[in-house]
Amino acid sequence: YRAKTESIGMLEYAPAFDKHTPKRLALMTDLGRAIREDQLLLHFQPKIDVNGRFIHGFEALLRWEHPQHGAIPPSEFIPLAETTELIRPLTLWVLDAAMAQCRRWRGAGLNVRVAVNLSTRNLLDDQIVNQVERILANHQVPAHALELEITESAIMADPKRALEALERVHALGVHLSIDDFGTGYSSLAYIKRLPVETLKIDYSFVIDMLEDEQDEIIVRSTINLAHNLGLKVVAEGVESRAILEKLYGMGCDQAQGYYIGRPMTEADAGQWLRRGEWSSLHLLT
Ligand code: C2E
Ligand code: MG
Ligand code: MG
Ligand code: MG
Repeated sequence: YRAKTESIGMLEYAPAFDKHTPKRLALMTDLGRAIREDQLLLHFQPKIDVNGRFIHGFEALLRWEHPQHGAIPPSEFIPLAETTELIRPLTLWVLDAAMAQCRRWRGAGLNVRVAVNLSTRNLLDDQIVNQVERILANHQVPAHALELEITESAIMADPKRALEALERVHALGVHLSIDDFGTGYSSLAYIKRLPVETLKIDYSFVIDMLEDEQDEIIVRSTINLAHNLGLKVVAEGVESRAILEKLYGMGCDQAQGYYIGRPMTEADAGQWLRRGEWSSLHLLT
């Protein structure tokens, strides 16, 4: 839905026009190799309770260190992978690495939940529920310590099948959240039927909410809507203390953003947890 020109290193192209240029095919071949050859890694971004009293967990965000092009952001290779079968092994890699890390944290007494982003194709994949179950078992991670983030647009791509898939994953005990909420076209009647715990308000509304009255109205109504449906709300894109305080005043439940913590390597995330940096965000006195 974001019609912009993507750039990969020196390469520029308009994705709407050429899905299968040689450059894109080459990048996908490289990505296939990256999965096998350890060029991928996860960064972890914290989600805290909006009053700063505790941390809910981390979102795993994929990073690719390409041997020639350097770091390629997910916004450049994930949409491309989503148009191919590669998104399957890619997501399995992320799930496996995220649950391995979750296990290490929990083994060290840090009771955190780790969230993984799923794509449309993953959601509609018959195998996904079994695969999630197997990965949880392999790492001896309880299902409730995994959260899956699914965008509104992924769900709306095939609402009926999405609902079935979500129900099966939810039955395992996995937490579900709707990502980038507000950017898609779901109806309230439909959202109400989904077995999800949380709505994540898209960062595009949160970032400017102090200056843009429309954005503030959207954020406020989304929080009220979610609460009326019995859901928790996470605000993405919390870049300042002023926004965090505003969200607190609005009754938002959780917050995520650069002000709280950037996506970090696993080592930095572990230190961030142990140093208790988040507790200095305390709003209640
Ligand atoms: P998302 O799931 O909505 O993740 C949030 C994105 O916003 C992340 O970008 C994060 O670094 C960024 N962000 C966090 N806090 C702030 C803030 O305060 N201000 C601003 N401006 N941005 C903030 P990132 O890591 O580049 O990921 C972009 C998107 O790529 C993600 O959006 C998600 O849709 C996708 N993605 C990332 N990793 C994966 C993955 O493993 N699988 C799938 N399917 N998608 C992924
Ligand atoms: Mg997400
Ligand atoms: Mg999001
Ligand atoms: Mg987003």
